[in-house]
Amino acid sequence: DPILKLSGLTKTYNRGKPSEVQVLRGADLVIRPGEVVALVAPSGAGKSTLLHIAGLLDTPDAGHVEIAGQEMTKLSDRRRTQVRRADVGFIYQFHHLLPEFTALENIVLPQLAAGVSRREAEARARELLAQVGVEPRADHRPAALSGGEQQRVAFCRALANAPRLLLADEPTGNLDPDTSDRVFGALMELVRGTGLSALIATHNLELASRMDRVVRMDHGVVA
Ligand code: ADP
Ligand code: ADP
Repeated sequence: DPILKLSGLTKTYNRGKPSEVQVLRGADLVIRPGEVVALVAPSGAGKSTLLHIAGLLDTPDAGHVEIAGQEMTKLSDRRRTQVRRADVGFIYQFHHLLPEFTALENIVLPQLAAGVSRREAEARARELLAQVGVEPRADHRPAALSGGEQQRVAFCRALANAPRLLLADEPTGNLDPDTSDRVFGALMELVRGTGLSALIATHNLELASRMDRVVRMDHGVVA
């Protein structure tokens, strides 16, 4: 089975109002296990909308979302939330780390919520931080970290519960070009090291070229 199968997705915002915008017009996309796919399109093309629907954070007007062979649109809200927490990791342009907790705690907390013991959760958090080179900063709060370090911690948090699918929306879009390049490299190592499947939105073609496949969004469909 594909890890992610999107078919016939449509989405219109502000229907019936002057500000109506049809963002998706029958978008299809298949991601196979272990595949890392770049989603490339200009700002406003609907990348965030597609990722939010794929990540079960938003619902389409029509169409289907299958994760690992399971049709999501038929599930109850409760079950969908379970699948989202267990199988999908999400990374945004901004880190969205909890400011009052340390880097380590930010990666430990989602594991505790999933029923992992504190001892195991801390060991995994340290291992993930070491993989992205931020282990020495484990006990700092996000505000004490650089933008690149904050984003590396957010990658670790997204992978904390070993999801099957990673969705990333301009994961290095907030960083200066040099930092972006290095931080993106760290993300790719993390993803390749786990054999994870990923859909990563970017408008940086150089970064896109490091992935297995590039898909483009145009007029609400995936080309
Ligand atoms: P991208 O991620 O490619 O920049 P988005 O999915 O964020 O594209 O947005 C696509 C279009 O839909 C834009 O015109 C945006 O302004 C609009 N849009 C996105 N989210 C909403 C929303 N919640 N309500 C109304 N319009 C929205
Ligand atoms: P990006 O360019 O990274 O996609 P945006 O500024 O387009 O970021 O969108 C940021 C967030 O705001 C998204 O969650 C999107 O759904 C929402 N959004 C975008 N445009 C609108 C809009 N016109 N009305 C309401 N929400 C919007």
